[in-house]
Amino acid sequence: MKDTDLKTQLVQDRRYLHAHPEEGWCEFETTYYIIERLKKLGLKVLSGLEIIEPQEVMGRNETIVKAAEERAISHGVPVNFLKKLNGYTGAVAVLETGKPGPVTAIRVDIDCLPIEETTEPNHEANLGNYHSEYSGFSHACGHDGHTAVGLGVAAWLAAHKDELNGTIKILFQPAEEGVRGAAAMAAKGIVDDVDWFVGAHIGCSAHLGEVGVSHQGYLATTKFDLEYEGIQAAAGSPEKGRSALMCAAATCMTLGSLPGHSQGISRVQIGKLISGTGRNIIAPHAYLQLEVRGETTEINDYMAKNVEMAVRGLADAYGVKYKLTRMGEAVTYKGDEEAINLVKAAASETEGVIKVYDTNSKVGSEDCTVLIRRVQQHGGKAAFFYYGCNHPGHHRADFCIQDEQSLPVGLGVYVNFIKRVNGV
Ligand SMILES: [Zn+2]
Repeated sequence: MKDTDLKTQLVQDRRYLHAHPEEGWCEFETTYYIIERLKKLGLKVLSGLEIIEPQEVMGRNETIVKAAEERAISHGVPVNFLKKLNGYTGAVAVLETGKPGPVTAIRVDIDCLPIEETTEPNHEANLGNYHSEYSGFSHACGHDGHTAVGLGVAAWLAAHKDELNGTIKILFQPAEEGVRGAAAMAAKGIVDDVDWFVGAHIGCSAHLGEVGVSHQGYLATTKFDLEYEGIQAAAGSPEKGRSALMCAAATCMTLGSLPGHSQGISRVQIGKLISGTGRNIIAPHAYLQLEVRGETTEINDYMAKNVEMAVRGLADAYGVKYKLTRMGEAVTYKGDEEAINLVKAAASETEGVIKVYDTNSKVGSEDCTVLIRRVQQHGGKAAFFYYGCNHPGHHRADFCIQDEQSLPVGLGVYVNFIKRVNGV
């Protein structure tokens, strides 16, 4: 495939994916699209239980997943294909060159966000006529671009396999939003043999034509769902009831005033609380979504422990039962100098790049860190970079990425990195 064809393909793939956004653990049409392509390219493909450790899956709702499978079937995804996935989305492409050399892995995430895309006529997707076809959902973080770039790397690998040695893997990871998917892939051991690992995100601090290479950062985070179960009773007989709602309210106040940590940034946030059935009924149920973050994994663990302690105590105090479930988790990131320098060199020789800069990822969270930590624990080296676009801010209805210019840069950095470490 010629380079110009590759660029056209990148944009086409991205726009198809943009019009068909699927949320975490529901990416069945996306996975089908990816795997069909990888097979056509002649790459080895792993999927389902080959790449996901079910016990480590976080934040996956069986009812929502089932509905997504049904929709996929109604859109032409074969039932047999879905059977092989065993309910788990994502894929890994593997190129085994048969020649001795390092194992290199890149990772792209494939899920969207529950955000309704803007109908503003000047929005890129509206101008280009590839607006999200699924109401309430859109690729408002650019993972459609990431996936397209992953497919671009796959096409490049297939076309240049004779010029490569070792093994190259492309991880198409589900459920990055809410930091839910990486742990299940890491636990499966698919990066345990990896010598070089690179992850990336479009946008963030990088403008169009810029590549930011990250040295360290990201906040470690734990996402929780919390349920309280009390006893329903009439308001006139309060001694007969146990209010889950009052316990939930007390939880908000208590967690909101948790002490911080002297060694760095810490955060606690309760983003959702649903409770109550009516004015004169003691509420039997409460449901909360909350999260903690920390500048280091230790600080995050400290915050998570505080939450567990407070919830246990409050449930006791209010005489209600509780269920605290970990829905997602990410750690902090520290890149390896050698891998960072290789990414910088790869970026410098990429067409369309006007600036390469060093950066740290101060805020936010990203579960690629979980895969990176796994690689490093097994002796591999890893780095993370940003390839730029001009955007109004991530997770917004009008998020945009200028795919024609931005995606070839992402592809170029990955490809140049692979050439450097796996070139013959
Ligand atoms: Zn993202």
